[in-house]
Amino acid sequence: MPRKIPALVVAAAFHAVAVAQPAPTGTPPPRAVAPEKLTEVWSPVPPVVTVPASGIPSDAIVLFDGSNLDAWKPVRADGQLWKIVDGAMVIVPSRAPTPPCDLQTKQAFGDVQLHLEWRIPADVKGSGQDRGNSGVFFMGLYEIQILESHDNQTYVNGQAASIYKEHAPLVNASRSPGEWQSYDAVFLAPRFADDGRLLRPARITAFHNGVLVQHDVALTGPTPNGSTFHQPTLPPYAAHPAKLPLLLQDHRSPVSFRNIWVRPIELPVGK
Ligand code: MG
Repeated sequence: MPRKIPALVVAAAFHAVAVAQPAPTGTPPPRAVAPEKLTEVWSPVPPVVTVPASGIPSDAIVLFDGSNLDAWKPVRADGQLWKIVDGAMVIVPSRAPTPPCDLQTKQAFGDVQLHLEWRIPADVKGSGQDRGNSGVFFMGLYEIQILESHDNQTYVNGQAASIYKEHAPLVNASRSPGEWQSYDAVFLAPRFADDGRLLRPARITAFHNGVLVQHDVALTGPTPNGSTFHQPTLPPYAAHPAKLPLLLQDHRSPVSFRNIWVRPIELPVGK
């Protein structure tokens, strides 16, 4: 016997799109579906992340909270850890001829959301690239530059918030030396085929002091550093593991850091 549709449903004028078809014996007829229901997705349900007053999401991995350097190690066995001063991690600048000694995380990361705060010394010396230089290297290979760029001329793809030598920042949001500044970034690691071919370049979106400075830029390869620095062209991609340590650069300037956390991110398949 056909199911009687309540008058109230009809009056609601849902404009039902699913027209009931004769159902096999014993099978309930399909219900009328409001059209807007067809575009609703109910699962999977996003996990809950809480954000307390500290601003650190509940699922973040805290890499430095001011108390210790347990998450870090020098990149060289003969290198030293940096020092903690008033809750900040301060680079102990190497002195030539000793080569610089960056710090890297003990944990490896692929795609991440990063928050980090940094400060150029108030009494910073030097000019150009020799003025408060440091940097954040995703996977130890892809640098977002740290530099005193409030009052310091240099090549624009090497100023603060540049993806070093690859992308100048959209704007210069730098604060004065001595002031704390922040980076918030989303880094998507490059993808490589089993034979080493590049399938997808690394991509970065970044905010400097809350201001958009890099919008989904594709990297041409690792940013120049170390053995690749003095080359006339930028280094190409070379296949590497899916996860590698995050690195902070010792560029012989006592830059300070605080409140460093990351959230490894997993994007839906195909995104
Ligand atoms: Mg640098």
